[in-house]
Amino acid sequence: MTNGAQVVVIGGGQAGLAAGYHLRRLGLEFVILDAQTTPGGAWQHAWESLRLFSPAAYSSLPGRLMPAQPSETYPDAQHVVDYLTEYEKRYELLVERPVRVLGVHRDGGFLRVETDSGTWRARAVISATGTWWRPFLPAVPGRAAFRGRQLHTVEYRSPADFAGQRVLVVGGGNSGAQIAADLADGTDPTWVTQRPPRFLADDIDGRVLFDVATARRRALDDGRTDLGGVASLGDIVAVPPVREARDRGLLTRRPMFTRLHSGGVEWPDGTRAEADAIIWCTGFRPALPHLAPLQLRGRRGHIGTDGTRAVDEPRLHLLGYGDWTGPASATLIGVGRPAREATREISGLLADRRAG
Ligand code: FAD
Repeated sequence: MTNGAQVVVIGGGQAGLAAGYHLRRLGLEFVILDAQTTPGGAWQHAWESLRLFSPAAYSSLPGRLMPAQPSETYPDAQHVVDYLTEYEKRYELLVERPVRVLGVHRDGGFLRVETDSGTWRARAVISATGTWWRPFLPAVPGRAAFRGRQLHTVEYRSPADFAGQRVLVVGGGNSGAQIAADLADGTDPTWVTQRPPRFLADDIDGRVLFDVATARRRALDDGRTDLGGVASLGDIVAVPPVREARDRGLLTRRPMFTRLHSGGVEWPDGTRAEADAIIWCTGFRPALPHLAPLQLRGRRGHIGTDGTRAVDEPRLHLLGYGDWTGPASATLIGVGRPAREATREISGLLADRRAG
């Protein structure tokens, strides 16, 4: 059976919900298809001690302020799940779950969305599938030879799983720092980063990062000098647990090793460290395999966008994957604006179609 909607939104995390909020305001007919069984997107899978890098009020989607979490300045992931669950209900956003989109195809004047439970035809599609589902692991020689446990950020839960073990945490971003800090007390992990860790000043959190990303976008749009975005400030937000571990001298770091061997890792000078587990906090890639049938990837494997709109397929918008789809669009506070812009463009496209 083929279902119809003016707009199909793929992904029911924060980006998909922000799109739904604006589609509803514009009076467009839409459905959100989400592969999870319950609301909350990737936040449902975060490790136990994860804290947002902004206070609740600065982590809000359009229309509804995130309430503060009692006794926590920086809310935990469950608080975000609760907020998104409530958001969905409040704005009566129709989310079909669990529905996994397998492929988006051109079909005359429509885009055909093939899923594991039926087909949808839509005049426009918003892809909002996030990055959590495509963990990235670097190609390091000897990875297959290592006999211990290897896991990515997405599989990490709590220090209890590593009691008494020799653990290496690889990665100089927020996940690496937070997980190294999480393990610091009981496990004393070795924290391995490619370059010396760059902590943001202690008073900088997600609020400031959002302002910086927005100011940079405006400067670039106006043809002014690029003063550097968020990356120019540092890589790691010094959220309280990270700050505490750092200040107690528990976050000692080693440079990146060059290869793995069966019992651990080896640095260029031949020194070795034995390890029971390696946690790769080495980032993510956009989860876009469902767009492969549209053949939009350019030479560098990237889908070209103008704002959120795919340059080579104007009926498709990409939302929430990072700065290339809008400044800070992969954050709670940042996704609202590109969601509004994407839905307005779609509304214009549909109006043009009707007029033409
Ligand atoms: P997701 O939450 O991943 O939601 C995408 C949804 O799409 C999921 O439900 C998924 O199942 C579904 N989906 C995927 N593929 C398909 C498919 N083919 N068919 C149907 N459904 C599909 N941001 C902040 O604002 N503050 C923070 O403090 C913060 N901390 C972060 C910490 C970590 C460790 C990470 C990784 C990210 C953090 N972020 C933070 C960034 C960002 O807010 C989150 O990554 C957020 O989950 C992104 O939301 P999203 O809706 O884009 O994607």
